[in-house]
Amino acid sequence: AAKAAGRNRVRLFTADLRTAAQRRATVANELREAILDEQLVLHYQPVLRLPSLRCTGVEALVRWQHPKRGLLPPSEFLPVAVQHDLMTPLARWVLREATGQAVAWTRAGMPLITSVNISASHFSTGTLVRDVRDALAATGLPPEQLVVELTETSVAQDAERAAAQFAELRLSGVEVSIDDFGSGFSSLAQLVAMPAGILKIDRSLVAYPEGRRSKAAAAVAAVVALGRACGARSLAEGVETAEQLEMAIELGCHLAQGFHIARPMPPEQLAEWVAARGDRPLTPSGR
Ligand code: C2E
Ligand code: MG
Ligand code: MG
Ligand code: MG
Repeated sequence: AAKAAGRNRVRLFTADLRTAAQRRATVANELREAILDEQLVLHYQPVLRLPSLRCTGVEALVRWQHPKRGLLPPSEFLPVAVQHDLMTPLARWVLREATGQAVAWTRAGMPLITSVNISASHFSTGTLVRDVRDALAATGLPPEQLVVELTETSVAQDAERAAAQFAELRLSGVEVSIDDFGSGFSSLAQLVAMPAGILKIDRSLVAYPEGRRSKAAAAVAAVVALGRACGARSLAEGVETAEQLEMAIELGCHLAQGFHIARPMPPEQLAEWVAARGDRPLTPSGR
């Protein structure tokens, strides 16, 4: 009886695996269509300069407007894109869309700096620099208005290649930032060798757990100091409260982003948000 139960369990397990694999294959096919079919959309999250609290930039974050499942967050489809070699075509679409939007905003009197996320796989294909230049050439966005983000974990996967491409991007005027800084497993030596202009301090450090303010502050201060010594600015990610924004200012972070400031939003709404704020600073305590 025990044996039979075991066999059943195995059978159930393989059935689950098959449906999961089939589901992923279906999603991959749909995603391939979606990239061609303009079903992807970008939402934009404001980035504030500190301590002035002026909105100087945005981060473009991809979503999938799925015909049946609604608006899907990146966690629902990026893993499938990675498995099915769709990250590079996806990034090409994102680059074109985001740079085009940045040009439109600039023409409307809103010259925002736009950040785009790039995957490790795109770095390893070797077409990244060309894809970035193609997007700039196609839309006419000045390179100084574009930032390319790569996560610390992706940097660690091939630090030498990342460093070479960072250098090339910066030579062409595009800024480069290390995303989720402080959450990966790269060595400090690797990070110090990386020619990045911005360190995005991971929200696990910025949104410190209750009762760990002093340790979190020390960690953020250390990243700010490291950045300063390497000529990089630091950005506090995932700022969720007025206290966290105050801490980021006190500790000398140059930039901040997070739900306390604004959630990612569709482009029309972002334009309204920026226009409504004008140059009026958002006081850290919301006063
Ligand atoms: P990320 O690049 O670190 O982007 C920040 C993520 O944190 C976004 O989630 C954003 O909505 C969320 N976030 C911002 N402020 C806060 C906050 O105060 N609290 C909390 N809890 N979360 C906050 P999202 O849009 O779901 O994106 C998740 C990740 O997916 C991104 O992390 C990025 O790694 C990846 N991603 C998004 N768009 C793209 C893309 O176009 N290409 C690639 N390769 N990756 C992308
Ligand atoms: Mg990012
Ligand atoms: Mg991040
Ligand atoms: Mg992240």
